[in-house]
Amino acid sequence: MKRFVYADNSATTKIDKQVLDVMLPWLQEGYGNPSSIYELGREAGFAIQEARAKVAAALGAAPQEIFFTSCGSESDNWALRGAMARLSKKGKKHIITTVFEHHAILHTVQDLERKGFTATYLPVGENGIVNPMDVKNAIREDTGIVSIMYANNEIGTIQPIAEIGAICKEAGVLFHTDAVQAVGNIPIDVKEQNIDLLSLSGHKIHAPKGVGALYVRKGVLLDTFITGGGQERGKRAGTENVASIVALGKAMELAASGIEEKAARLTPMRERLIDGILKIPATRLNGDREKRLPGNVNISIAGVEGESLLLMLDMHGICASSGSACTSGSLDPSHVLLSIGLSHEIAHGSLRLSLGDYNTEEDVDYILEVLPGIVQRLRAMSPLWERMQKNHETV
Ligand SMILES: *Cc1c(COP(=O)(O)O)cnc(C)c1O
Repeated sequence: MKRFVYADNSATTKIDKQVLDVMLPWLQEGYGNPSSIYELGREAGFAIQEARAKVAAALGAAPQEIFFTSCGSESDNWALRGAMARLSKKGKKHIITTVFEHHAILHTVQDLERKGFTATYLPVGENGIVNPMDVKNAIREDTGIVSIMYANNEIGTIQPIAEIGAICKEAGVLFHTDAVQAVGNIPIDVKEQNIDLLSLSGHKIHAPKGVGALYVRKGVLLDTFITGGGQERGKRAGTENVASIVALGKAMELAASGIEEKAARLTPMRERLIDGILKIPATRLNGDREKRLPGNVNISIAGVEGESLLLMLDMHGICASSGSACTSGSLDPSHVLLSIGLSHEIAHGSLRLSLGDYNTEEDVDYILEVLPGIVQRLRAMSPLWERMQKNHETV
């Protein structure tokens, strides 16, 4: 029996019904401008305050430390550009990041390099984890900021954030983390982990697309990101996206309170999926087996092309993702998979399944039922697989 299985929760998530319910009134009767003086406006303003407090509480931050943005990418841009604009005036022009960040970080750092900043891109281990000692050794006199993602969006690996935070604090450099994938999956405490700046996004945690937030520790100075009105304490102008901000507040509240339960439910499902897929010959798991997001499965399947695999899965009603070429519109395979040492060939045949709140054991059964047959069919047509068989190559 064909099913519909959404296993691409790292790409985006469905809006939670409770989240939708709290946001809808702000699109209809509660349409006032939060800056207006009359009650209709003031109520919208209060709703934003309440949402800010919820986001803050979920991170162990204070409400004044939360700034709403339009997405995770904007938060990443603002953190890096805003901080470096200030720091460069004190002669700090060096940025430390990693080779396997999301493009919202990588392309921003590259842009800053073109504008006269310098950058160090730290390698990651074969297990997809950054070594904190590499961070320590890369810090220089002119280092302004270290930006390292909390959990990787492709291979799901969780980074030693508290250790890196402690190193940055000791060295007196800012520490930013892109926590878009971590929020709602891993407990976060910005104070305990010495995080100065943290990016998050609504649509990865069952809120709508087009809203995000940046946590900015009290005392950290950022340049204004959008000049205009006085919204977001004059740092990010533009009439607030009230309904989506309210939704983000609710989603953060739900996410924070459900972390342990979610991990306890998803981890065994992930493990069963990994074990089941690894039974297919010539496959390998990408990223550390334990230090990974509860719902993340990323497996390379030799002799198949990721794009074809996704199309075949789609025909069976399964939404998944791959580190292969065409999806990203480029011929190069995923920079993340290359960073952990995969060859181009193997990286092209990778499959990411990301489980979330709405997945069930039946979804796992169905994927495991359908996938081996698809792999077999694709391999039967693959010259690459034929060559690998002939030469006894493995992954
Ligand atoms: C999705 C994602 C982003 C971008 O967030 P948007 O809200 O889509 O802009 C940034 N970083 C990571 C790790 C992501 O997974």
